[in-house]
Formats: sequence, structure tokens, C-alpha cells
Amino acid sequence: MPRETRHERQRRAARLVALLANAYPGARTALRFRSPFELLIATILSAQCTDKKVNEVTVRLFRDYATPAALADADPTAIEAIIRPTGFYRQKAKSIQSAARDLTERFRGRVPALLDDLISLRGVARKTANVVLGNAFGIPGLAVDTHMQRVNRRLGLTRAEDPEQIERDLAALLPEREWTTFTNRVIHHGRVCCTAKRPRCESCPLAGECPQLMISAPGKFMISAPAGGTGRANTGQGARSSGKGTPRAGKGSSRPAKGTRG
Ligand code: SF4
Repeated sequence: MPRETRHERQRRAARLVALLANAYPGARTALRFRSPFELLIATILSAQCTDKKVNEVTVRLFRDYATPAALADADPTAIEAIIRPTGFYRQKAKSIQSAARDLTERFRGRVPALLDDLISLRGVARKTANVVLGNAFGIPGLAVDTHMQRVNRRLGLTRAEDPEQIERDLAALLPEREWTTFTNRVIHHGRVCCTAKRPRCESCPLAGECPQLMISAPGKFMISAPAGGTGRANTGQGARSSGKGTPRAGKGSSRPAKGTRG
């Protein structure tokens, strides 16, 4: 198979953007928040945890500690008790309290809307910063989590494993205005279709643009190069299409790297 040129990859990326928009028009972050502060804290808590579980604990967390100052001054054991269901609760308690202190001491209790300021907060890395920029401030951001890593590698939009390099690769392919919605749709696609262990290639709305697929036999697909997953064959009826017959998503879950915490 001839190697894809950069221009061809850009054009394919544009087609993937359209297919994702068609398949998952309403995809957005599944984390519930009412302010940049709440989204920042919820995103830190979402590491190694489902958004559903985070949403359950943040109801009480934000009721008891509604501001950065309140969270910064809280008894750490009280925070730990609330966030315990999210896992790694001791470290997460330290991270959210450190970030809250930084916000209070350096940013007058407000979440900054600049990537460099956000990643200067203790406990905040590029992924979290880009989630906040994109979803709380409307500033385009490519937040590279495990779904973004796996799906974009399978789609051949990057060969990198390092999140910062993936962010740079995607930034070079996609118009800035697409970054946040592309992130949210790819994450949703990674959850409902292109899962780590059993990607549903036979019903995938992106199959027609996915280089991981080749028709190995009529009605049978094979993942040829298992980037971020296991090579396997799927039986199914022709999914090399524009997404017809695939489920439209319900409502789900900046700047490219210069220079990661969570
Ligand atoms: S065709 Fe398969 S590997 Fe490619 S994006 Fe869809 S589910 Fe993932």
C-alpha cells in the first residue's frame, strides 16, 4: 500500500471530522460542571476513573467546598472521604487542594484561561488544561487521553505514543476550530465503538477511512496493525461506508505541546 502523503492525510482527517460529526453530533464532555473551577477539579478526579463516578462525588464536593479558597482550606481527610470512590484518593486530594491553593494565591481565586498558566498549577497537566480550555472557555484544545491515543493511532492520524507528540500531530492536521469537538467525539467513539479490547469495526462509522481495516474475506474485516489494541478479525456486514446504520451518539464526555501531568 503506498504511503499516505501529508496532504492526503489532511484530506482524510477532514473526512473523519465530517464522519464523527455525523455519528456523534452531541458528544461533549460527560463531566458535570457549572464553572471552570468545577471542571478543573472534576477533570483531575477523572484520572483512572469513570466520569459517572466523578459526577457522583463532585455533587457533595462542590456543595461543601464551592470555591478554590474553601477547598484550599479544607481538612484533607474530609476531602479524601468524599473523593475516595474515584480511586487514588489520597494523591487526588493533594492534587486538587494544591491546585485550589495555587488558584487562591496566584490567580485571585479564578481559573486562568491560558494554557501556560493552567499547566503551572500543581496537579494540572496538558490534558486537563486542554479539557478546561476547550469545554469551559471555548478555547480550542486537543486533550490527549487514552482514547485519543488509541483511536488516533488506529486511524493513522499519528504514529506517536507520547501524548504531546500526538497533540502536535493532530494540531498539524486539523483546523483549530475543530480541536475541542474532535476531542470529545473521538473520546466518545473510543468508549462506544473503538474500544481497547474489542473494537466494533463491523459497525464503525469511520471504517471507510480507517487504515487499520482491510477486507480479508467477503464480509470479514481484519485489523491489520493493532495500534493500541489487539489484532483480530471481525465478522460483520460492510461497514466501509459513511456511517449509515450506525448509532448516532447520545450526549456523552491549548495550544499544541511545547513542552505532562494528568
Ligand atoms: S474501523 Fe475499527 S479500528 Fe478503525 S476506528 Fe473503527 S472501530 Fe476503530
